[in-house]
Amino acid sequence: MKIKLNPNAKDASTRDALVAEGGFGKYYTDHMVVCQWSERDGWAEPELVPYGPISLDPATAVFHYGQEIFEGMKAYRQPNGEVSLFRPQANAQRFAKSAARLALPEMPEALFLETVETLVKHDAGWVPHHVGESLYIRPFMFATEVGLGVRPSNRATYMLIATPAGAYFDPSKAVSVWISTEYVRAAIGGTGEAKCGGNYAASLVAQRAAAKEGCDQVVWIDAKERKWVEEMGGMNLYFVKGSGAEATVMTPQLTGTLLPGITRDSILSVAKDLGYKVKEVMLSIDDWRDGVSSGEITEIFACGTAAVVSPVGQAKSVMGTWITGDGQPGVITMQIRNHLLGIQHGTVLDTRNWMRKIC
Ligand SMILES: *Cc1c(COP(=O)(O)O)cnc(C)c1O
Repeated sequence: MKIKLNPNAKDASTRDALVAEGGFGKYYTDHMVVCQWSERDGWAEPELVPYGPISLDPATAVFHYGQEIFEGMKAYRQPNGEVSLFRPQANAQRFAKSAARLALPEMPEALFLETVETLVKHDAGWVPHHVGESLYIRPFMFATEVGLGVRPSNRATYMLIATPAGAYFDPSKAVSVWISTEYVRAAIGGTGEAKCGGNYAASLVAQRAAAKEGCDQVVWIDAKERKWVEEMGGMNLYFVKGSGAEATVMTPQLTGTLLPGITRDSILSVAKDLGYKVKEVMLSIDDWRDGVSSGEITEIFACGTAAVVSPVGQAKSVMGTWITGDGQPGVITMQIRNHLLGIQHGTVLDTRNWMRKIC
């Protein structure tokens, strides 16, 4: 990797003050990684360079046809001050799968990991220190062939940026959701399994409709039968049936339209470790409504890298409004959240080798 250090890197006290502000995506670290690919030459040597704007021809393919993918992952401060990544190989593998779906080049896992490790090592001072805080890392790749012809681009640019993420979790508040029957996120054969910007572009009007209904987030149901619960915004969903040691922790099955979340996958293991029965299920909106009204469904939460675990309270749709439990974060939800955060922050034993020490 070529290294070009930022001569204007923030001094430690300025940086620490920015990190201490908390929030998400307001400040970016001193460096970024850029790596070019072309059909003719394959991957060039990646470069660590000062963070800053880039310049592209207005006819660059990505602006017109949306050929773009991304990842989201985090580096966590450990109790001894070291910095570790959570399951970075899983992000590398998913990035390659997303690339294949969008006709972009698959970046070798080792190259992907090298770029992430190099950036985190150089900008480790930006990793916050408190539990619930982290450095959010955003790898992305876009088509850079210049020209308006519609075809897979013969050039692509991979980039990597990072931003400190504060602890924005409010334990007193469960999110409210609007179940969208008007818009769908993904259909079989589409791009639902790929982490591509286009999926998000198509979701924004539904998110706006949810806000208009007074809800925090949109819940997606399947495109074909319009009854199976899939995801919430950019997060996967979990439902808890029953309570105490007898509880079952369930999540919608991966049908080809859901994004296979790494947090979702991790919680399948964590919930089992905590002694709960775990199931991947087909769950309909009727199951949701009937389950909460009978009291059989006791807790609902969403999960993803950014927020880790978010309790879900009120659900609203054209069929009516229903509330899970007392509208407060559930006991099992919080137990799973704390266990996973504990693994990430090095206070709970990492039995599966999920954490990868960087520095
Ligand atoms: C990224 C993403 C998730 C969560 O995946 P994680 O790997 O857990 O961060 C869920 N749904 C969608 C649509 C996503 O884009």
